[in-house]
Amino acid sequence: PVSRPHEVEKTRRDLPIIMMEQEIMEAIYENSVVILCGETGCGKTTQVPQFLYEAGFGTSDRADRKGMIGITQPRRVAVLATARRVSYELGLKLGKEVGFQVRHDKMIGSKCSIKFMTDGILLREIQSDFLLKRYSVIILDEAHERSLNTDILIGMLSRVIKTRKNLYTEQQEKIRSGLSIDPENTISQLKVVLMSATLQLKDFISNRRLFNVIPPAIKVPVRQFPVTVHFSKRTHDDYLGQAYKKIMSIHKKLPPGGILVFVTGQREVDYLCKKLQRASKQQIDKKPEKVEGNENDSSPAADEKEISEAYDIDRNESENQDDMFSSFDEDESNAGPNVDSSDIETESEIDTDCEDDDSAAYETKEEDEPELAFLKGADGSSVLKASFKAISRVSGGLESVDISSNATVLEESSPFHCASKCTETRFVSQGKLHVLPLYAMLPASKQLRVFQDIPDGERLVVVATNVAETSLTIPGIKYVVDTGKQKVKNYNHATGTASYEIQWISKASASQRSGRAGRTGPGHCYRLYSAAAYGKDELFPEFSEPEIKKIPVDGVVLMLKFMGINKVANFPFPTPPNKESLVEAERCLEALEALDSQGGLTSMGKAMAQYPMSPRHSRFLLTIIKILKNQRGFSRSNFILGYAVAAASALSFMNPFLMQNEFSEPKDDNPDLENKDKQDRKRQKKLKAMVREAQAKFSNPSSDALTISCALQLFELSENPVEFCRVNSLHLKTMEEMSKLRKQLLGLIFHHSKFCEEFSWNFGSSEDVEEAWRYESDKKPMHLNEEELLRQGICAGWADRVAKRIRAFSRLSKDDQKVRAVHYQSCALNDTIYLHRSSSVAQIAPDFVVYSELLHTKRSYMHGVTSVKPV
Ligand code: ADP
Ligand code: MG
Repeated sequence: PVSRPHEVEKTRRDLPIIMMEQEIMEAIYENSVVILCGETGCGKTTQVPQFLYEAGFGTSDRADRKGMIGITQPRRVAVLATARRVSYELGLKLGKEVGFQVRHDKMIGSKCSIKFMTDGILLREIQSDFLLKRYSVIILDEAHERSLNTDILIGMLSRVIKTRKNLYTEQQEKIRSGLSIDPENTISQLKVVLMSATLQLKDFISNRRLFNVIPPAIKVPVRQFPVTVHFSKRTHDDYLGQAYKKIMSIHKKLPPGGILVFVTGQREVDYLCKKLQRASKQQIDKKPEKVEGNENDSSPAADEKEISEAYDIDRNESENQDDMFSSFDEDESNAGPNVDSSDIETESEIDTDCEDDDSAAYETKEEDEPELAFLKGADGSSVLKASFKAISRVSGGLESVDISSNATVLEESSPFHCASKCTETRFVSQGKLHVLPLYAMLPASKQLRVFQDIPDGERLVVVATNVAETSLTIPGIKYVVDTGKQKVKNYNHATGTASYEIQWISKASASQRSGRAGRTGPGHCYRLYSAAAYGKDELFPEFSEPEIKKIPVDGVVLMLKFMGINKVANFPFPTPPNKESLVEAERCLEALEALDSQGGLTSMGKAMAQYPMSPRHSRFLLTIIKILKNQRGFSRSNFILGYAVAAASALSFMNPFLMQNEFSEPKDDNPDLENKDKQDRKRQKKLKAMVREAQAKFSNPSSDALTISCALQLFELSENPVEFCRVNSLHLKTMEEMSKLRKQLLGLIFHHSKFCEEFSWNFGSSEDVEEAWRYESDKKPMHLNEEELLRQGICAGWADRVAKRIRAFSRLSKDDQKVRAVHYQSCALNDTIYLHRSSSVAQIAPDFVVYSELLHTKRSYMHGVTSVKPV
């Protein structure tokens, strides 16, 4: 018996999925796997768990339906928001029957029936409980997004279902033949529901390797209000400027209704939010004049013109054919260092401004070739040796880097004529804009503000990244402004170079985005690109590629091997990864000594698989443990381990100093804003100087990881962390997440110690380590040999990413600061790579370094750099 709040009963009745309850439940009873498709907002995420709950799943009412209802989401934002919503709808308190779990945060009661979680969490659970015995139903939500974790889960669940079915049949036979079974140990069949906003899912699930019976697909018909799609006549480069103009013109001229605008990243969201808030404020300040002006000028002709403009209706049809879109300005391309890409629960929401200083004349200085030698004693030194050898093979002769622009030139064909007739009456808004940002790295409480009521007379504007594409339904959206762009992290398997690129979205995404406008009434979607551009499949592909095709799969391979799947290529991937990325993953894992030469898991590999992070990071931690255990003479073992844990966390995130540059503003071509731009540039410069200064305070000239660890330590000790971040130009949420990961890792070391003698810690408890890390360096700063040991550990994790300096450029910048862009030769690829001046080792520019990631912006820059000493 469920008692929902009155308000909920009312709104629920209007959801299209409610009519389908019986059909959906029958499909679930009759099949092991059911696919459920329906437009965003139709009620999948919030209602299907409730149908199941009311049918007795997740409760102890029925033996064959006992076990929780688990719902996974690719994004954390959606987990918290929907868990809250569902508990509210059921009239229950969050954390009891309805719970949630994301990394570092959970509210799960002992009587939990419905559990919302990220797909990463379920993937970890499946490693220790392959049959997922605690669940009777697993719902994989947003399966159309094809996140790496969801894809792997689909493959695994296809096997789990079979095993559970067999076990269940055996059990029923035993019962029939009169054998008694402990009711505690009965097992139910596992039901799987794959939910998706598009029908695309049907195609890849029909892959016979996955399920031998093709699962039925139910489509929820959605009473979607018509959305009029308006293409732009031209495709402008300056999509942010266009978005701004469009929002302001909608606000001024069109009837009430929220505006949802899609841009590519946090930096753009913040920029646009600020600009809109400023404009709204100015408009309010000027209001009295404006009202008057409008009253004088209310001729019907003017009305019509304004409305037409606002709706983008072509009246004069001047065919301007000179439109092209030229290359993206490379200066503005964003880069984000070291994201926890192989990390199980990633929020891929990165961008940082990493410009460099090659514009001015450099003073060139040839460096002598340093003598090649090898690190002594370091674990993994054989790999290092190979790395050094590789450098000597390829170094020399490589001087310049070809900075090719990714220019896309498109000829504009006939402008798109908007078919819709504008029927709205004249409307002039004088209200304020209620501007809210929405992106993954925004604190949860701020994310949830999009669901709250806004003051009367104000217009909601949500400036969002992809987060708002399908997982969240924001109430009251009538207008969607779609830049057509998204930020994608691309990874080159051959070179190991990652890059963030602003790309056109897929047609499927474009249609998801426009659909957001028609939930509460007829809506409008403004696409800031031309119909001709949209029509080209090279620009706007039908669907986006699944994540597994785009990122390194070393973490996945390690996990599958750990679960006993030795021939990873045989795993039933919905879409298999590229061959070369599998080869690359095995090579990497072998270099890390997680796999032996036959591809079998080593004891190191088994230990590494225990940690929910990239194999490289766990290799680093385990190496430190091993060295400390073998080597006496380190009096401060707990202190060193504490530092190593902090450094591993630091390397799992993007540089929190660089993140601060997010607030710098992208280029704006609008001449009206020239002056403002100058101010902004000044501000930005000041900000950068501040960042440099702040970083210097924590700087460890031998390692970025140690520099950030030091900042993390002081962050955790500070009385006012918010203020600490503000003063020191650190990104607050990154620091918070880093601190949480640090604590989690520390806990895991002691948890796993119990199972594995080889890597168990016997110098103290986790409290001792914590205590030592927090306070020891206060008393005595890190010794040189301690630092070296930590660097050896880092070397073991990134031993195949060594680079040798080939020459250094230096010059005096305008503010008299010595700036250098230093050339390096990597052991891994045949190209010159660069040390970024923001790195804390840039001052010294050591002969040899290891880097945790290569990011290509203008050039390939190393990130997460640590100097290594050949002796
Ligand atoms: P779907 O998963 O099919 O996209 P949802 O179940 O998320 O749809 O949403 C169904 C309806 O419930 C939507 O119309 C939305 O407005 C409303 N809703 C969902 N989450 C919330 C929330 N956290 N607060 C208020 N309303 C919500
Ligand atoms: Mg949903």
